[in-house]
Formats: sequence, C-alpha cells, structure tokens
Amino acid sequence: MKTRTLPSKKTRQTVLIVAVTLISIWLVLLQVGIFTKARSMSRIREIGSSRVNLYAQSLRTNLEQFRHLPYVLARDRRIHDLLNLEFDAIRVNPHLEDFATVSSTMIFVLDRGGTTVATSNWRTDQDLTGFNFSYRPYFKAAEKGLSGGYYAIGSRTGKPGFFISYPVLEEGNFLGVVVVKVNLETIQHIWKKSGEAVIVSDAYGILFLSSNPDWKYKSLRPLPPHTARRLREVQYQGYPLVTLKMERQSTTGGNILLLEGKQYLEQSLQLPEYGWRIHYLTDLRGVKSNVHLARTVTAVIAGFILFTFLFFRERRHKLRSREEARKSRIIEEINEKLLREIEEHKQTEDNLRKIQKELIQAGKLAALGRMSAAVAHELNQPVTAIRTFAASCRIFLERNQPKQVLENLDFITGLTERMGSITGQLKIFARKNKSGHHVVDLAKIIDKVLLFSAPLIKAGHVNVNSELTEKGQALVRGDSLHLEQVMNNLLSNSLHAMEKSSGKEIHVKLFIKDETVILTVTDSGTGIAGEAMDSLFEPFFTTKDIGDGLGLGLSITYGIIQDMGGSISAENIAGNGACFTIRLPLAVT
Ligand code: ADP
Repeated sequence: MKTRTLPSKKTRQTVLIVAVTLISIWLVLLQVGIFTKARSMSRIREIGSSRVNLYAQSLRTNLEQFRHLPYVLARDRRIHDLLNLEFDAIRVNPHLEDFATVSSTMIFVLDRGGTTVATSNWRTDQDLTGFNFSYRPYFKAAEKGLSGGYYAIGSRTGKPGFFISYPVLEEGNFLGVVVVKVNLETIQHIWKKSGEAVIVSDAYGILFLSSNPDWKYKSLRPLPPHTARRLREVQYQGYPLVTLKMERQSTTGGNILLLEGKQYLEQSLQLPEYGWRIHYLTDLRGVKSNVHLARTVTAVIAGFILFTFLFFRERRHKLRSREEARKSRIIEEINEKLLREIEEHKQTEDNLRKIQKELIQAGKLAALGRMSAAVAHELNQPVTAIRTFAASCRIFLERNQPKQVLENLDFITGLTERMGSITGQLKIFARKNKSGHHVVDLAKIIDKVLLFSAPLIKAGHVNVNSELTEKGQALVRGDSLHLEQVMNNLLSNSLHAMEKSSGKEIHVKLFIKDETVILTVTDSGTGIAGEAMDSLFEPFFTTKDIGDGLGLGLSITYGIIQDMGGSISAENIAGNGACFTIRLPLAVT
C-alpha cells in the first residue's frame, strides 16, 4: 500500500506565505496598474489639451495670415478696372502671379457672375481663366458683401486648399470677388513629421486635414447619401467619403478611439469661425507600456523582497535547526551519560543486594550459632545437673537414704521441666498455629499471668500496678495459651530490664478505643538499647548474655499478635524504661 507523506509544518507555512504574498503582489500590481494608468492618462490629457490648443492656434495663424490679402487686392485699381472691363487680364495676371509667388498661394478674380477673369496660374495647364465658381460658398458669401472662407479641392487644379474671398465693391456696387487659395499641404506635412496624430473635420465630420493620409477624406460618422453626393461633387471632387472604421467610447477626459487596431485618446476643439473641429489623438500604447513597466518594476521588486524574505527565513530556519540539532546532541549525550550512570547504579545496587544477601546469610548463620550456643548452654546445665543428681541417687540408694533419693528426684523433675520449657519455646516459634482461635477476655488472661508470676515479682521486689477493663469487655479472638505466652514474655522482659533498677515499677494498662483493644506494659527499666530498636522483633535477636535468653520472646509475640490481626510497637519513655503497646481488634460476639 502506498503511503503519502504529509508536508512538514514548515513547508505548509512556506506555501501559505508564498500564496498570500503572490495574492498580495497580484492585488498590488492591480492597484499599480490602475494608479499608473490614471496618472498616465491624466498626463496625456494635460499634454493633449495643450497640444490641441497649440495646433488650433497654428492652423488659425496659417489661415489668417492671408485674410488681409483678398481685402487689399479688392481695393486694387487694376482689378477694379479689369472688372469694369477697362483693363485687360493680361495686365493683371502677372501682378496676381507676383503676389501668389511671394505668399505661396493662388489668387484669382471672379466677375460678378462668378467666372474667372484673372488668375495667378494663368501660365499653367490648370489656368482657371473662364471657369465659373459661382456655386462655391465663398463666392456666395462675397456676393453678400462678406468675407468668405471655405475648404475645398480645386475642381480645375485637383489640389485642396482654403479659399478666402473678399468682394470687390465700387461705390457700393458688387463688381466681383478676389479669391486667395491657401495651400494647407505644408502644415499637414509638418504635422506628419512631428509624429503626432492631428486631424481636422468639417461640419459634416469629414476629415479634410490629417497628419495620417490614410484617414483623409473619410468621414467620422455615416453621411446621408444625398449629402455625401453633394459634398463629393461640390467640395471633395469625387472622393468616396467613406466612414472611418473606428469605435468611440466617451470618457470624462476625452473619447477613447479604437482605430486601425490602436487605441487613441481623442481631445478636440471647436474652431467656430470655420465650422471645423480639430482633433488631437494620443496613442495609448504609451499608457499600456507605462502600466506594463510599472507592473514589471513592482513585480521585480516584490519578487526580490519575497525571495530575500524566503532566503533569510530559510537561513534562520537552518541556523535554528542547526542549533536544535546541537542541543539535542547535548541532550542525547546527557541521556547517554544518565543511562550509563543508572546502569552503574543498578550494578552497584545489585552488588549491594548481593552483599546484603551474603550479610543476611552470615547474620542468619551467626544467629543460628548464637541459638545453638544458647540452646546447648540452656540444656547442658540441667543435663549435667541431672547426671550429678542421678549419680548421687545411686550413692543414697546404696546407703539406704531414700529421703535424699526422693529429694534428688524432685530436683531432676524440676530440671526436666526447665528443659521442657526451653524446647517448648522453640516449638512455639517453629509452629505458628492459627487454629484454636476463640473469643477470649484479655483482662482475665493478664490477671492469670500476674497471679502465676507473683512469686517472681515478689522475689524481684517489683511493684506491679494494673489498670484493666471490666471482665468480659476486652474480648479478642485468639488462643488463650498464646496470649498468656505474650503477656509472660512482656512481663519477663520488663523484670529482666529492671534487675539493676532502684525503683522497680511495672504498669499494665488495658483499655478499648475505637473497636480496638489496647494493652500497654510500661516498666522503669533500662529502656531499649539504641541499636536494639530496629531488630527487637527479629528472631534470635537478644542483647542478653548467652544463657539468659534465646532472643525468641518478642519474635514469638510479634507472630502471635500478627496472627490475630493486631500490631505491636515499642518505645522508650521519658526518664527510664520502655513501653510495649499491643493493639488487637475487638472481637464481635
Ligand atoms: P530475650 O528476652 O531472650 O533477649 P526477646 O525477644 O524477648 O529475647 O527480647 C529481645 C531484646 O529486646 C532483649 O534482649 C532486650 O534487649 C530487648 N528488650 C525486650 N524487652 C525489653 C524491656 N522491657 N526493656 C528493655 N529492653 C527490652
């Protein structure tokens, strides 16, 4: 089965950071684009608005610089005479030619019927003499006594130009018209050379001046067919006047034109004196490239910042992991050291346990030795005595002294009883018997033991004072013989401890507290020796001399009390003496 490893926390974080940053960069780029576009557009609008004004001004200057020429010529005597038929055209034509050459224009004179009577191009093939232009608006304006201005393509010359007319009047009578045709090709040429897009449209939206020759004589909007036809015939000499293919979108700072696959900002200005509109077009590729440039620069900077951030983050991470690796190496070393130390401690502990076992074994052997010596001593004495008494019995029998024999036999009986008690102790120690548990009154048992021990107590000059519960109260579940043994042991230990004491007191107290029967035996003896306190209840532990004790008394007592579900403890009391406390559960009857 394939297992898929989950990416680490750090990788997930990096992916998240990169994703968030890329989204942020994308948003920033969007904003940068919007901002740059707005800024570029506002700059373009600013420039465009001043350019369109400038171009309008230069166009006006170009046209108006000749405005006075027809006016001046209309006052010329020779032209008056010509129109009054007092003068011959041949005398006027060179004169007009002179003016035209100097001003780079074409000048001609129409009679009151609109027929050309004199012209500056009289020498050329396109001589206008005899051609009638009464249909031209500039003639019609002059007829009315006004100065006319009109753009058209010359019907005879085929060359476009701006016609400025002025009426020739004599004492208020209309004699004819002087017309100056201004050549606008030069200005268009200058526009083209400047690389800027400038167009001028007439009242019908026909582009008659343009820096781009392809747009010339095309219409900004569709023309009604009859208008198109009339304009073609009268003004634009057969040009088809097709509509320019473009899309226009209005915005606050000018129109956006989509022309020949390019976007332009169109800013235009009305030239009311001519009924024209001048348009200045700015190619918006510059805006696009500005936006592109700003975005590229921002993206490069953002990418650089992101890259730098990731680089330093990676570096910091590497340093941190190196530091962590160093720390974990140290911890590993410490761990190894600790493990070694633990192992050493274990070894030491094992050794100690071994030594302890050996010591216990040695202690047991020593105890066994002590016990053997004690038992041998305890039994040897009466055995020797019995042997002596038996031998003397033989002598007393030979001498026929039966009374002494009987006395000796009494002694021998006493000695065997003593031997019996020694072996009895060993028997009790060896056999811990739980059977034979009855409810017994501890007060009765104590009384009995005190009564039996009375001779010993008396002999030892000991004052025993007992404070016991009423009979039938301190009931415990156990064996009465064992309990007697317990009381006996405590009593004999106290008597022994007080052998050399001056004031010999034993206080026996029996009472019940919280369902527990408590027995305390306090004496005014030597107290428990310091070194004995921990080993009191161990078998064969004794501070007595060999022959004085086997060290089994308290061990047996402990076993009996344990069997009964109780506990025993010992303590020294202030002043002199020891106190043994036994706690036994109160028997439920
Ligand atoms: P034994 O009496 O044979 O020595 P026990 O087991 O009865 O054996 O007692 C063990 C040891 O406890 C005694 O050797 C003694 O040192 C100490 N001991 C017991 N009872 C007393 C007591 N009332 N006062 C002082 N020491 C005591």
